Amino acid sequence: MKVLTAKGGEYQISDDLREKLVLLDDGRLFIAKSYSFDPHVRSFIGRLQHKNVNYTIHNADLAIIANYYQDKSNQEDHSDMQRAAKQLFEKGVSLRASDIHIRVSKRGRTQIFFRVHNDLEFIGEKPFEYGDQLCSTIYQAMADVSDSTFEQLSRQDARISEKSKIPENLDGIRIATSPQVDGYIMVLRLLYNDTSDDLSLTNLGYSQTQVDSVEFMKKRPTGVIIIGGPTGSGKSTTLQRTLGSIIHETSGRKHIITVEDPPEYPIPGAVQTPVTNADSEEARSREYQKAIKAAMRLDPDIIMLSEVRDNPTARLVVQAAMTGHQVWTTVHANSALAILNRMMDLGVQPELLSDPTVIAGLICQRLVKKLCPHCKRPLSQHMDEFNDKDIRRFMSVLKDMDKIFVQGHGCDKCRGSGTSGRTVVAETIVTDNKLMKFIKEGDRIGAINYVKNEQNGISMLEHAIIKVSEGLVDPFQAEDVVGALNTVIIERDHSILAEEIR
Ligand SMILES: [Zn+2]
Repeated sequence: MKVLTAKGGEYQISDDLREKLVLLDDGRLFIAKSYSFDPHVRSFIGRLQHKNVNYTIHNADLAIIANYYQDKSNQEDHSDMQRAAKQLFEKGVSLRASDIHIRVSKRGRTQIFFRVHNDLEFIGEKPFEYGDQLCSTIYQAMADVSDSTFEQLSRQDARISEKSKIPENLDGIRIATSPQVDGYIMVLRLLYNDTSDDLSLTNLGYSQTQVDSVEFMKKRPTGVIIIGGPTGSGKSTTLQRTLGSIIHETSGRKHIITVEDPPEYPIPGAVQTPVTNADSEEARSREYQKAIKAAMRLDPDIIMLSEVRDNPTARLVVQAAMTGHQVWTTVHANSALAILNRMMDLGVQPELLSDPTVIAGLICQRLVKKLCPHCKRPLSQHMDEFNDKDIRRFMSVLKDMDKIFVQGHGCDKCRGSGTSGRTVVAETIVTDNKLMKFIKEGDRIGAINYVKNEQNGISMLEHAIIKVSEGLVDPFQAEDVVGALNTVIIERDHSILAEEIR
């Protein structure tokens, strides 16, 4: 005899309801006397009627009902699988994965991936049956759905919110499934309850000092904060997280309007306005300007503009800052200080660019691949593979060569890539009158030293060197992104700006 209302059963019900009733496969439905008119019990009966299930109602004691739920063998299977599922969730949380993908293939195997920092990471392979059982357990025995039959051939959505089934730092898990050519996929979105941490720049690779600088910029009432970097350097992610954290910290007390062309990420709590499609570059620019002007009339506290790309928008950005707004935007630039040059090229007057109430902060960033921690190789054991010149160059900058790692040949964990996600190398500059005095005088070296000495500032190159010396990043891959690592020495000795000799 089967208990259809057991966990994983055909008519699985919630733990609460399981105390009140039990349905057996011979059609007997036992209901605890005191719950005959309980709305949940009635709604369950409604469900059976709707599905044309034959049943006969019997009154029973609570103990008899509880008895039916004890030691069911299929329940055992599910509880083993539930443990495995919970372990998988916990592993995902420990790597700060945003999603878990389970691809179940009938011809092949089940592949499991985590999405960590926007990249999919291969976690492992299991037989088809394992994946199939895992998915049906997650859907049927863990999710809080009332109609809980997992159907591989349809798209289904559900959510797990029962605390005992999910890791502590999750609010819940959103489940989405879809059939695919030879099986199906289940995607689990991990909903973290510590959103402030999820929004932190530390997870992107910013150092604590840099995070503190950005925190300081966030508190400035007016002025524009500009993030520089080439295309694909993760500027939008930094922007999205920073705005998200402002919304979180001010509990929605700030009116944030974005003008984006196009909006890249959802920023819950902000009013995101897309730029209307236009067919020519000129028309786009006009639409963009219109949208910025409109945003300024909508009584914002904070305005975010996706990019400063031409003279009119550069002037509007400055105008918005001068009329009492905090403005966040991005620009193509190679270093934090070079942002000012770029703005000057775009027609902003130098007096405004050296005014700390107009320019509140400068951030620049690039992305470097992170070494797969499972297959990275110590450089000291593979010196013979590299040429002397490279090794000498590294040795001149990196103190402890034993801690340096190079990319390995790939493993299961990194799906043969040798790397696992990317990390930011960045520079942050908080502007003030002293710094702006150097800028006004055109003394860039003075400005750089001031940032270094007074703000504990580091350049992107130095940030990359730190990550290489911690064994997080391959020195060759770092050089691909920030240039020769020994530039920093030349820079120190000759007081030349790194980007000027590159
Ligand atoms: Zn690996």
